[in-house]
Amino acid sequence: MQALGAFIRRSIDAEDAARARAAEQATRARRMVVTLAVAGQVALVISAAGLQLALFLTPLWIVLVLLLYGTFARNKWGIDFGKIRRPPNCPRCDSPMPRWRMPKTLEQALWGGNTCANCGCVMDKWGRAV
Ligand SMILES: [Zn+2]
Repeated sequence: MQALGAFIRRSIDAEDAARARAAEQATRARRMVVTLAVAGQVALVISAAGLQLALFLTPLWIVLVLLLYGTFARNKWGIDFGKIRRPPNCPRCDSPMPRWRMPKTLEQALWGGNTCANCGCVMDKWGRAV
């Protein structure tokens, strides 16, 4: 009889221990799910911010590349740094252009260029006849 009582007590203890272990495991799993969800949200917010920053900066990069390439290739996007010292002479009659130009057309106002007061030659900002 005593042996049976001891056996029952032992099996109850084992059952309690198993239940406690299962509860601990469930708590750990729940904590892991919450951690993963939070980490996912944080990653989403960071990537969304990065995407917005990239979308915002891309036009700036494109403009910068156009300006740099235009300066070296001497197209209308380029910046003529030599003109800061002295504007290029007229390509046809070689008369000097005024430092402060008055654009004659919308194209000249937007992209630079000049019209020679001496011979009427139209040039771009690099001093090439158009
Ligand atoms: Zn001229």
